Amino acid sequence: MKFDELGLSPEILRAVHDAGYTEPTPIQQQAIPVVLAGKDLMGGAQTGTGKTAGFVLPLLHRLQRHASSSPSPARHPVRALILAPTRELAMQVEESVKTYSKHVPLRSVCIYGGVDMRAQIAELKEGREIVVATPGRLLDHVQQKTVNFNSVEFLVLDEADRMLDMGFIPDIKRILSLLPTSRQSLLFSATFSDEIKKLADVMLKAPQLIEVARRNTVSETITHRVHPVSADHKRHLLLHLLKDKPDMQVLVFVGTKFGTSRLSSWLERQGINSDAIHGDKSQQQRTDALEAFKSGKARVLVATDVAARGLDIDDLPHVINYELPSVAEDYVHRIGRTGRAGKKGDATSLVAPEEKGRLADIEKLIKFKIELVELTGFDTSAGPAGEGRGDRGGRHGERGERGERSSGGHGHKHEPRVAHGPKTPVQLPPTVAHLPGGFDPTKPYEASKPVPAPEGEAGPGAKSESPPRRPLRPVAALLGGIGKK
Ligand code: AMP
Repeated sequence: MKFDELGLSPEILRAVHDAGYTEPTPIQQQAIPVVLAGKDLMGGAQTGTGKTAGFVLPLLHRLQRHASSSPSPARHPVRALILAPTRELAMQVEESVKTYSKHVPLRSVCIYGGVDMRAQIAELKEGREIVVATPGRLLDHVQQKTVNFNSVEFLVLDEADRMLDMGFIPDIKRILSLLPTSRQSLLFSATFSDEIKKLADVMLKAPQLIEVARRNTVSETITHRVHPVSADHKRHLLLHLLKDKPDMQVLVFVGTKFGTSRLSSWLERQGINSDAIHGDKSQQQRTDALEAFKSGKARVLVATDVAARGLDIDDLPHVINYELPSVAEDYVHRIGRTGRAGKKGDATSLVAPEEKGRLADIEKLIKFKIELVELTGFDTSAGPAGEGRGDRGGRHGERGERGERSSGGHGHKHEPRVAHGPKTPVQLPPTVAHLPGGFDPTKPYEASKPVPAPEGEAGPGAKSESPPRRPLRPVAALLGGIGKK
């Protein structure tokens, strides 16, 4: 199928052509006609499927009748509201809006927390037809009366399941109550729990249901590998892998905010350009980190699941799970960034004995056993509890970014972590044994550092996007099959 068979306007097709797209992706083929026909839509699709263009292109087409080059703010009321769970996703969506609307005089703005409101207020005052926003900050604007929803015709809720995870549903309901009832609404979610269905019931009218990717399907072009290693030797193994392939750019997943910063700083000290991204970083820091990684300046981006969700990092061949996620589905989300569009990718997981339960859950979910590759020189025995041990992404009892305890409590059968004495040093391979700065891997790392604030609590200025304590995600029944990219 070709883009010009979809009925989009010549201006929009020109932008699609400029973006270098030749064929619509499966979600675009299904979603675009539904949205053009003015129907509500409930879409099952994950990031990486092309879903953003799937709703932005037809939305722009339908808004084109309002397009105006007039400088008057009155000619540019808010017509479309796109809600996203994280700043990063909101920014990416708004970037897409700008890309696809470049030949149409429609204006957009991105509204998110953690930054001064004044610039956003100034843009809203000038008039913007398309507002892409995170819910908390949008409500701040509602409170300050700096945004007006009277002319809203379209509402898009992107990554609704993540909105639910992050505790945004009350905010969403509040926003819904402020919108005109006569509007077209679209809801996208990778998963469909009962709560999402309930939300869809109040938000959508006779929606068309489309789906393109069965949740928990992983691309066949990805090579999965597990390296068993004690928690205390993980970072040395990571360093070994990085040194082994000096040209490799890697997205590394860690379970906690504190763990990401700590690992990233440690890698920097070992001479590896690295940056960390998590919910407590300022907006500028997060943007800079992502840019540094995308431009290749940073070789490694260490991220939490929440911060990485929705990141549009093209052609990323390597993902390393420094710690396995506590929710098995997040393994699929994490590696969704590699192996896109049939390209080859690697998903390597460093798995400590304490994480065996998580590994079993993941293998059950993806329905195959991941190859186990033991690397000589790395201890694989169960380690002591996290107290002050540098290799752990999080300390014992530290909360994950979603406010979960990083050491279990999710129905997985984790062995309780009990503090033991230091372990017998093991023979490390040369890349590890000769670390700069005379680092002794057998000694506790930064043991005297103060215990950080519990993860999951909002940092200053990040009120709306730092997720509150997250309820356990039910392993919801998904919509049916999806085409693999
Ligand atoms: P999304 O799932 O919306 O985050 O999109 C994932 C990536 O696919 C983005 O980098 C888009 O620019 C790209 N993309 C979207 N539609 C197409 C298409 N029809 N052909 C090629 N790439 C696309």
